[in-house]
Amino acid sequence: MQGDCHIADFNISAGIMNYARFLTAVSAARKPSPIRILTELQQRSPPSLISLAGGAPNPNTFPFQSASIKVKHGETITFDETAMKRALQYSASNGIPELLTWMKNLQKKLHNPPTASYSPENGQMDLCVTTGSQEGLCKVFEMLVNPGDNVLLDAPTYSGTLAALLPLGCNLINVPSDQHGIIPSALKELLSRWDPLEVHKPGSTAPKILYTIPNGGNPTGASMTTQRKKEVYELARQYDMLIIEDDPYYFLQFNKPWAPTFLSMDVDGRIIRTDSFSKILSSGLRIGFVTGPKPLVDRVVLHIQASTMHTSTFTQLMVSQLLHSWEQEGFLQHIDRVIEFYRKQRDAMISSADKWLKDVAEWHTPSAGMFLWIKLKGIADTQQLIMKKALEKEVLLVPGGVFMINSSDPCPYVRAAFSLSTPEQIDEAFRRLSSLIREAP
Ligand code: PMP
Repeated sequence: MQGDCHIADFNISAGIMNYARFLTAVSAARKPSPIRILTELQQRSPPSLISLAGGAPNPNTFPFQSASIKVKHGETITFDETAMKRALQYSASNGIPELLTWMKNLQKKLHNPPTASYSPENGQMDLCVTTGSQEGLCKVFEMLVNPGDNVLLDAPTYSGTLAALLPLGCNLINVPSDQHGIIPSALKELLSRWDPLEVHKPGSTAPKILYTIPNGGNPTGASMTTQRKKEVYELARQYDMLIIEDDPYYFLQFNKPWAPTFLSMDVDGRIIRTDSFSKILSSGLRIGFVTGPKPLVDRVVLHIQASTMHTSTFTQLMVSQLLHSWEQEGFLQHIDRVIEFYRKQRDAMISSADKWLKDVAEWHTPSAGMFLWIKLKGIADTQQLIMKKALEKEVLLVPGGVFMINSSDPCPYVRAAFSLSTPEQIDEAFRRLSSLIREAP
């Protein structure tokens, strides 16, 4: 099917990778918007150019005039009339330039992808802004996942990922994992069904992508060790797979130094990384990023052009102004404050779990994120218990089944979030959960 795709007009290789075989027919058929090309042309032309081409509305007709947003621990963000007009107008599909530059510099500082052929300087690596990392993930899947494809992931996994992937008609294959993430020997065993020398042959069913949440996994709280990442990356090289590194809890790692990311090991250009500001700046502003090989990021932008067009200009400008006033140092100081909050919350949840659940449940202490994944002893499936009985006791958790590839498979786990409740509420919730488990038939 992919042989029929019209991808000749796009540059689909970078470094040593050629991405043609990874693209879905839908993605390959996406063309740059002619209107967007004209807009760029207009931006590069002298001011004497009279353009009747733009279809943007006139911002003078908009009702908002200016804005001033007070920042905790920082300068007030102001939008005067000119800034407001820009904030309320359409903008580029890949993101506003100042936010892109800021984030590129941060990615370079934090991940510094290794080879000269794959670095922000020479344009082989790129990033774009997305409306939360959820949009990035959806677009990446739309770009890479054909019906019938085998896709690897370590379940239980984020229900939003399952929601995006399952309707694509792909075959999700579970890679065994534990509290340290994907188990490389199990991945190797699983991949041994295919001959690495034959993955490029037409009709090969070998998986082309592997999706994972490397830090503070949702729902498991698992964080992958550096050694495991290295081994998984090597297997990805051997079988020529792309890795989708969905890392919204990267900034919520409680221990320093933070673990090296897949992106930081990416000598080939096979990592597509999704980042999110949802857990550290605001979930409602909807700012995320896709970082990866330029040909693939360019293509994600084509998918954005045809759907949301771009992430809200207003929220991008607001975040960009904040980040520029903070600079990298202020940003990282803010992250430290956020980490401190979640670490205390995590500790409070663990001590309440120790107090109430020790003999009726099992868990691993997460080193990142905002979730505790709890196995209830003697309970085969938590669905009924949580959706019926727990509500009667006025305690709510997420039954583990919703994070499984097949949500009807029995699952003895529940997910407890330590993000929003006070330590007192967490303690009372676990007291209620404990009596619920003890009373269960
Ligand atoms: N990936 C994972 C693993 C998540 O837990 C979430 C949010 N719960 C997302 C992606 C989406 O986050 P957002 O769109 O808010 O960036």
